[in-house]
Amino acid sequence: MRRAARTYRKCESAFSAALAFAMLAAFPCFALDISDSYRSPRNPERAVRRTTELIVLHTTEAAAKGSLRKLSDRGECHFCITEDGSIYRIIDRDREAFHAGRSMWNGKEDVDKFSIGIECVGYHDKAMSLEQLHAIRDLVKELKAMYRLGDDKVVAHSHVAYGAPNKWHKKKHRGRKQCGMLFAMPSVRRVLELSARPPRDPDVRAKRLIVGDKYLEKVLYGSTDTMRAQYRNAAGAANAAKKQAASKPPAQTAASKKDPAQNKPAKKSTASAKRVPGSIAELKKRGYTLRGTVSPFNTASRIAKGRWNSPDTFYTIRNKIIPGDLINPAKIEKGMGIWMK
Ligand SMILES: [Zn+2]
Repeated sequence: MRRAARTYRKCESAFSAALAFAMLAAFPCFALDISDSYRSPRNPERAVRRTTELIVLHTTEAAAKGSLRKLSDRGECHFCITEDGSIYRIIDRDREAFHAGRSMWNGKEDVDKFSIGIECVGYHDKAMSLEQLHAIRDLVKELKAMYRLGDDKVVAHSHVAYGAPNKWHKKKHRGRKQCGMLFAMPSVRRVLELSARPPRDPDVRAKRLIVGDKYLEKVLYGSTDTMRAQYRNAAGAANAAKKQAASKPPAQTAASKKDPAQNKPAKKSTASAKRVPGSIAELKKRGYTLRGTVSPFNTASRIAKGRWNSPDTFYTIRNKIIPGDLINPAKIEKGMGIWMK
C-alpha cells in the first residue's frame, strides 16, 4: 500500500513536471506576478476561445473584496486588478469569461467569444490610483504583445455593450452601460500608454445600432475628459522619466543633445546597440550580477520587481542579451537570466 502510494506520487510529480514544461513551450510566461487566490471554479466548464480581437476594460462599481468573490464564483472576467495594483487571475486567458453581456463590435455579437475581459476595482467616472493604472498598463501591454493587438483594440465595456429596444429607445442602442468609461478618456489613456482609441462606433456608423447615450458618445469618441486635471502631471512625469532613462549614460553628450538629428530613430538604435553589453563577461565587468533565472515560479517581476522593464536590467538567453526596455513581455521564457546592478 505504502509502495503503491509512493509510486503514484512519483508518477504524479513526473507528470506535473512534464505538464509544466509542455505549458511553458505552448504559452509564453507573464512577466508580471499574478495571483491565483481567486481563480474561478468555473474554468473547466468554459470553452476555449478561438480568437482574441479586443481587450475590454471594466469598472467593478463596487469594493474589492465582494467584487473578487463574485467575479470568481461566476467566472465573469479573466483578470481583476485591485486599487493597490494587485492582479488576480479569474478565468484562464485562453478560455471564455462571461464579462461583456449583450454586446456587439463591428457587426459581431457576443464579444465574450473574441475578447479578454479585465475588471478594475473602481467606478466608471472616478479617478483611480496611479499604482492601479500602472498595473493595468503593464498587464494590457503583455496581453497586447501576446495577441498582437494595437492600442485601438483596447476598449471599455461601454464601447461594446448595447441595449435591446425598450420604452426609451425604440431600436437597439449603444449606451446600455457606462462601464469602464474613464478608460476612453485621453488623459487616462496617456497614463496607460495607449496612443490610439477606436475613432468611431462601427455599429452606429453601419446603422446596426443607434446612439442611446449622447454623453457617453462624447466621452468615447469626442474630447470630453473629466480626468484631465487628475492625470495632467502623472503622464508628464512618467514620460519625462522614460525619456531620461532612454537617453541615459551611453553616447548622449551635451553636443548630441543639441543636435536634433541625433534623436532620430535610426541613430537611437545604434546608441541602444552600444549600451547593450556584448557578452556575459562584459555584463560582469560593468558591475551587473545575476539576480535570478525565470521559471514558472520565479517571474521576471518577482526577480527584478518594478525594474523588470528598466533599460538598466538585462535578460540573457542563448548568447543573446536584451535590455529590459526592449524585452517583449510575451517572449520572456523559462531559463532567462536577469542581470542587474
Ligand atoms: Zn463591465
